[in-house]
Amino acid sequence: MIQQLAGGVLARPLAAALAAAIAAPGALRRASAAAAAAAPAAAAAAAQPAAAPPPPQPAGPQQQPALAARPLLRRGDPSADVPEVQGYVHSTESFSTVDGPGVRFLVFLQGCGMRCSFCSNPDTWSLHSGEPVSSKELAKQIRRVLPYLKCSHGGLTCSGGEPLLQPEFTAALFQEAHAMGLTTTLDTTGQGTKHKHWDVVLPHTDGVLFCIKSLDPTKYTALTGLKQGGALHFASELAARGIPFWARYVLIPGHTDSDTDIALFADWARAQPTLAGVELLPYHEYGRNKWAALGLAYPLAGVPTPPPEETRRVVARLEAAGLKVLCDAGGGGGLSAAHTGAHS
Ligand code: SF4
Repeated sequence: MIQQLAGGVLARPLAAALAAAIAAPGALRRASAAAAAAAPAAAAAAAQPAAAPPPPQPAGPQQQPALAARPLLRRGDPSADVPEVQGYVHSTESFSTVDGPGVRFLVFLQGCGMRCSFCSNPDTWSLHSGEPVSSKELAKQIRRVLPYLKCSHGGLTCSGGEPLLQPEFTAALFQEAHAMGLTTTLDTTGQGTKHKHWDVVLPHTDGVLFCIKSLDPTKYTALTGLKQGGALHFASELAARGIPFWARYVLIPGHTDSDTDIALFADWARAQPTLAGVELLPYHEYGRNKWAALGLAYPLAGVPTPPPEETRRVVARLEAAGLKVLCDAGGGGGLSAAHTGAHS
């Protein structure tokens, strides 16, 4: 999932915008109530003969349709009530400003079922790598930096790899975070299944950074090795639970940047009822040395980072489609953290 986000330009807007989406549970609940009130009318409308669908409307943050009901989070429950779970962790960072609201403690979990041709961290692919770590031990580490996480209204972000593939461990970490009064963000590509993975983690998830690799099913499989259906189903699950999310999209010249690619993505994004915004990530090959270290050929050798003017063109196109877009179109720069950012 991992890509450096180029430049700090992105950091503050993303933190503020995701905070607005995540840290407004009252607004979400009001929207949920509106959804419940509207449900009978919607059902009646659905029973009518099919009429021509209305034209798609821009889906800016203030224009989102009502959100569905969402399970209550266990925020404030004592940590002693949270089960201790062992998990496999690639690494942690105690100060991230681009992976959710406020300052985040980041945990990068091992294990990923995708094989993205542009992956920056193939060393996270193996699930059982290294020694298992206790969720309670990690919670202790988070508590050491609790003051600055709390004063920034930040929290814990679980990334990877794919954090959904260690569902009990991720859920335990999120519950520990809630017990500390922190927000929880899941950085994911939506792997796994509803019953084994999503139902375990999502009840403890405040917000999601969801990287949708491509809206073209053939390209999706070519880029990731998996079928696209699971990711689309995961997005439906976010909608059903009323969980706000940012859609991350990696702009890869020759792979995800055609007019058709962008149109497909924009159409999909506009249809997501809990979408908070879009984060456009220009492709880079920062992880290439890791492929070499693992003895793997880098599949996208020769593919350049999109030039800033091309990135800006795509941003403008998405904004013209009514989407809120965050992006550092300047390219280059780069954050110091090796794991900051999305699945790429
Ligand atoms: S970029 Fe793809 S392969 Fe790499 S960790 Fe993310 S989802 Fe897995």
